[in-house]
Amino acid sequence: MLSKKLEIALNKQINFEFFSAYTYQYITTFFKDRGLNGFATWFKAQAKEEVAHAQKFIDFIQDRDGHVVFEEIKAVKPDLVSSVKGAIEYSLAHEKMVSGAIYDLLTLAIEEKDYATENLLRWFIDEQVEEESTFRGILDAVVFLNDNPVGIYELDKKLKERA
Ligand code: MG
Repeated sequence: MLSKKLEIALNKQINFEFFSAYTYQYITTFFKDRGLNGFATWFKAQAKEEVAHAQKFIDFIQDRDGHVVFEEIKAVKPDLVSSVKGAIEYSLAHEKMVSGAIYDLLTLAIEEKDYATENLLRWFIDEQVEEESTFRGILDAVVFLNDNPVGIYELDKKLKERA
C-alpha cells in the first residue's frame, strides 16, 4: 500500500497535470483567437495528453489501494501570454516546473522505498525529457522565424498535423 506521504504527493501531481491541461487549453484559445489554427490544434492535443497524465496517476493510486482527492484547479490568468514566442516560452518554462515536481516525487519514492511508484515516475521522467525537447524545438523554430509571417504560417500548417 501507498504511504500517506506519497499518496498526498501523488494527488498533488494529479492536480498539477490537470492545471497543465487547463493552461494548454487556454493557450489553444489564444492561438485560435489569432487565426493560428495549427498552433491551436497542437496545444489542444497537448492538453489532452496532460489529462492522460493525470489519469495515469489516478489509476496508479487506485491500483495501489490509495485514495484519490480532486482539489480545486488554479485559475489561468487571462493575460498569461501575449505573443507566439511568449506562449511557447511560457510552455517550456511550465514543463521545466513539471519536471522538477516529478524529480521531487521520485526522491520521495526512493526515500520511502516504494519501488512501484519509482517505476511509474521513471516513465514520467522520460516523458518530461520528451516534452521539454518538443517545446524547445518549436521555440527554436519560432525564434529562427523572428515573426516572419510566411514562416509562421508554414509552421502553423505543420503543427496542424498533430490532431
Ligand atoms: Mg504532464
